[in-house]
Amino acid sequence: MRLPTNALSFKRLLLRWYRRQARDLPWRTTRDAYAIVVSEFMLQQTQVSRVLEYFPRFLRRYPTVHHLSRATPRQVRESWEGLGYYRRAENLHRLAKTIVREHEGEIPDDPERLRDLPGVGRYTAGAVAAFAYERRVAAVDTNVARVLTRVFGLRLPKGARREHRLWALASALLPKRRRAVWEFNQALMDLGATVCRARGPLCSTCPVRTACRTGRRLTSSGGSARARRRGRGSTPKR
Ligand code: SF4
Repeated sequence: MRLPTNALSFKRLLLRWYRRQARDLPWRTTRDAYAIVVSEFMLQQTQVSRVLEYFPRFLRRYPTVHHLSRATPRQVRESWEGLGYYRRAENLHRLAKTIVREHEGEIPDDPERLRDLPGVGRYTAGAVAAFAYERRVAAVDTNVARVLTRVFGLRLPKGARREHRLWALASALLPKRRRAVWEFNQALMDLGATVCRARGPLCSTCPVRTACRTGRRLTSSGGSARARRRGRGSTPKR
């Protein structure tokens, strides 16, 4: 895929910002695939601040995939109480049992094999492969999709073709080195969650503004200030 002309400068600015400003999150200080799976399940549809409460508690109670696989459905549900979307807890429990039964307790590093597990879609498979195993794969969630759409001024079709183009672009943007891939994926998520928010993007102080097609347009027209006012009080996930 041919990269947009602002791709290189965007990547450089994004990584530079991330290395200075990365959020300190406990699932970023580990490469334990099980812990990363737990964090990814919890982060679906849930604020980071809530997950920060539940994540260490859950891991204290179920420190390994074996511990979780031996729990009863009722115990797992109790541990999830308050996080909501209990379907995630059920899927996580089923995943743990499948890993122990069919994968000798080892979570696969291949996104295709990860996608065969209960509750694991394309995004979660990419995130686990990238964050636990530093595999060179993209992970496109709504935050990342929004950042890419704005930075590259994309006009996308709807449905599957939209997904296809976003994933293709995210994959083509990945750095070559594994460690840089890990950082790049994390950085995209941080930018989408804290700066390039769904409502009220902070374009005037955005670290990638000079490489962003939307940001340049908004800041020159004063649109960012309007967007900020509109977005007051919004609470980005992840
Ligand atoms: S300049 Fe604005 S639109 Fe572009 S990435 Fe930053 S916050 Fe998002």
